[in-house]
Amino acid sequence: MAGLTLNHVYKRYGDVTAVKDFNLEINDKEFLVLVGPSGCGKSTTLRMIAGLEEISEGELYIGDRLVNDVAPKDRDIAMVFQSYALYPHMNVYQNMAFGLKLRKFKKDEIDKRVKEAARILDIEHLLDRKPKALSGGQRQRVALGRAIVREPQVFLMDEPLSNLDAKLRVQMRTEISKLAKRLETTVIYVTHDQTEAMTMGDRIVVMKDGVIQQADSPDTIYNHPANMFVAGFIGSPAMNFISGTVLEESGKLHFKTNNLDVEIPEGKAKLLKDKGYAGKEVVFGIRPEDIHDEPVFLEASPHSVLKSKVEVSENMGSEMYLYLSGIGDETVVARVDARSGVEMGDEVKLAFDMNKCHIFDKE
Ligand code: ADP
Repeated sequence: MAGLTLNHVYKRYGDVTAVKDFNLEINDKEFLVLVGPSGCGKSTTLRMIAGLEEISEGELYIGDRLVNDVAPKDRDIAMVFQSYALYPHMNVYQNMAFGLKLRKFKKDEIDKRVKEAARILDIEHLLDRKPKALSGGQRQRVALGRAIVREPQVFLMDEPLSNLDAKLRVQMRTEISKLAKRLETTVIYVTHDQTEAMTMGDRIVVMKDGVIQQADSPDTIYNHPANMFVAGFIGSPAMNFISGTVLEESGKLHFKTNNLDVEIPEGKAKLLKDKGYAGKEVVFGIRPEDIHDEPVFLEASPHSVLKSKVEVSENMGSEMYLYLSGIGDETVVARVDARSGVEMGDEVKLAFDMNKCHIFDKE
């Protein structure tokens, strides 16, 4: 088991810089998720760690060992791909044993490791089957098994669940998390799926255009996003953004647009004043679940009650998404209890939970 360190790591392909000044310490036994939109440099980062791509600049350590020039097979890591990359002519046992055979492990040791991995993954009954006789989920387990038998210091996973259907994806998500804890191993997991990131990661690294935007726990990423990009990328439906100005009036801070005026609570206001936000054009952010239609909330937050019209309502069963007009210039989405009985076309009164609001610099 080992941690990893990336110091000022860059990857350049000609004029394209795919990864820029990547700095990160990954702890031993940590489950670290790299997340971001397609093309943001997640796979390139993972492939540099694996040794499949050369590092253009910077240093990569696995444990205390500088591995920039160490061949992939000598890095003591195992990679699980989206495509599984199983050998079609070999059965499950042979697929799992292959990497160990190449490394000249003794037959007894190979047998012990393959059987143990098969037991952990609950695929003991499939050892004689060829990949074509397996379901998607079973193939994914075999791919994991191939990595496990190597007993590597670090597991690298590149979108390993993206070929599975939605239900199986949720199930395998839990299985991989449990497996990682059980094996007490370091995992670096790449995905573009923010739900996978939020549910699996001990820590999430959000990337955009080859640059780390934020590296924090799921809770911190969700509740204290470092910038508008992170705030908009994590969370579904996405955080609402409203452009406007922070204004100071008789000692209080307000956020204002042409049709909206809400008071910022004292604690937050003080921080914003200290950072020089009074008088500044900003983007106000509020998550759909922090907009309430409950009477108790409407009474408690008199400074943030707004009237608006429900343009569209989507009933999800337990909750309902309201698409609202009349607040700022954009449509604002609120997530309320489905039993609230709100219908399309209704005029509604809503309150922002201003303790949960965010103020971002304009980007
Ligand atoms: P992600 O995994 O986040 O989707 P990638 O790491 O695959 O992103 O790619 C990051 C950027 O690097 C993209 O702009 C991509 O086009 C570019 N890129 C990746 N591989 C190569 C390559 N072999 N040659 C040139 N550009 C590449």
